Amino acid sequence: MQFRKPQICTLCNRDLKFKYKPDKSWNISGYLCSDCHMKTAKEFFIKQQKEEEQLSKKQNKCFMCHKIIDEEKKKKARWQWGLESDVFLCEKCYDQKELEYQTKVNFCVKCGKKIGFIRYNPKPQWKIDGQLCRKCWDTIKASNN
Ligand SMILES: [Zn+2]
Ligand SMILES: [Zn+2]
Ligand SMILES: [Zn+2]
Repeated sequence: MQFRKPQICTLCNRDLKFKYKPDKSWNISGYLCSDCHMKTAKEFFIKQQKEEEQLSKKQNKCFMCHKIIDEEKKKKARWQWGLESDVFLCEKCYDQKELEYQTKVNFCVKCGKKIGFIRYNPKPQWKIDGQLCRKCWDTIKASNN
């Protein structure tokens, strides 16, 4: 029993008209005012979400489909894909990503033609994500001048 304890908010020391019991996980004794209760609840919610995110990285969840991956089957995402570092994918998503990536680097994003040995990288100001064949590169270059 919290006998004779002054009814003030543990965090801001305000007198409590309405007292709110802090959640056990917050490790706060006494009571809180509604402002502090709301604030703390929000902070803990964000903290919890971050922890869950960390946990799911450790738990071998696939970054794409969020399925749990068997330890021996998990595949590290390739840095070339531009995903977050240290993420893992299941075999299916890995293959799919790899295919996407190969398509992106081996085929022209404009006309879909397979690109040969020589690559024509679009200029940054064109804002094109992928690679171009010689013909499309020339066309875009001409229309951008
Ligand atoms: Zn308070
Ligand atoms: Zn997956
Ligand atoms: Zn093309």
